[in-house]
Amino acid sequence: MAHYPEDRAAWVEVDLGAIRANTRAFKKMVGPRVQLMCSVKADGYGHGAVRCARAMYKGGASQFAVATVAEGIELRESGAEWPILMLNQCPETAIDKLVEYDIMPAVFDVDFALMYGERAAAADKVGKYHLAIDTGMTRIGVLPEEAVEVRRALDFHRGLECAGVFTHFATADIIEDWDFKVQSARFGETVQALENAGLSCGLVHCDNTPGTVLHPRLLYDMCRVGVGLYGLHPADTTRPRMELKPAMSVRAKVIRVAEPQVGTGVGYGFTYRVPKQGIQIATVPIGYGDGLSRTLSGRMDVIVNGMRAPQVGRICMDQFMFAVDASAPRGYRSRSMVREGDIVTIMGRDGDEEITADEMASLRGTINYEVVCDFALRLERIYT
Ligand SMILES: *Cc1c(COP(=O)(O)O)cnc(C)c1O
Repeated sequence: MAHYPEDRAAWVEVDLGAIRANTRAFKKMVGPRVQLMCSVKADGYGHGAVRCARAMYKGGASQFAVATVAEGIELRESGAEWPILMLNQCPETAIDKLVEYDIMPAVFDVDFALMYGERAAAADKVGKYHLAIDTGMTRIGVLPEEAVEVRRALDFHRGLECAGVFTHFATADIIEDWDFKVQSARFGETVQALENAGLSCGLVHCDNTPGTVLHPRLLYDMCRVGVGLYGLHPADTTRPRMELKPAMSVRAKVIRVAEPQVGTGVGYGFTYRVPKQGIQIATVPIGYGDGLSRTLSGRMDVIVNGMRAPQVGRICMDQFMFAVDASAPRGYRSRSMVREGDIVTIMGRDGDEEITADEMASLRGTINYEVVCDFALRLERIYT
């Protein structure tokens, strides 16, 4: 909490040291022969892709994954010279940008790949791509039985080079899961079939964060790790296997404190009314326009001066309110009072108290991934 943005009393703090340390822990886990490809899609899960990628590189990462052309370009324009894989295809109209910025697409469609090869050849380049295999998740990829045929249809092309073959697991976070075993067996067989046909696979990879942590025998040449690098566990199953440090905190300053009469309403719809004398209602300039979901209204806590306080009334687009009981016995009074300018922790640690992305996710009925992505909407990031 060393400094704040100049123009707004609300911000996201990103601990780059934590990201570096988490990356180092994954690198140590996979060993020197397995490359670490870091997922920095959705602006680094809300943490800021460019700064996080640099911290991850320092922590031992060697490749990066994005979801869109724009994300790849942002990384390149920041000076990144590392391999960048886009985990999807893009509209044909953007293929020239893939070539210009050396962004490798994940390929699952022959026509797309041939067009990419044409554009690469026209630019006197070799268009590297990774072949996506749909081993059972039914999202993207060619089916295992199509893989050899698709590769043969592409291999003649001088503008194309298969730099990798990969799949994605639907249930990697479950221990001893039958569906996972089916997917990983299909992937192994597909890679074998390609090699038997004399088609080189490049880098073979399949594990996301839970796969890397829970299935270390399946690492192949590279892991595609995301959420764990930001210090978040993808599921309870990975928690006992690895210690991670959350990198994101969300904080703001109290901009106004009121001590309303009993019965006074707070916020839209007056879903909360002051129940007794001596309740302070403090206003914080963050709302659902900043990714603080309105579904948390009246259900979440904040931390102020090292203590939890309940959020009250509906969360607005740009602000919310919380309540502090200032009528506590004398001697405690000064400690429990809230003042204008006090720092409020919406997510993160303050003293002995901590509000985790997991706590917010469980209140919202979602996963920590979505909670951190959402805070990228409008809040400025401060790197520590
Ligand atoms: C997002 C993504 C990852 C990273 O997943 P985490 O659960 O964040 O580790 C890996 N591979 C693909 C294809 C993805 O879409």
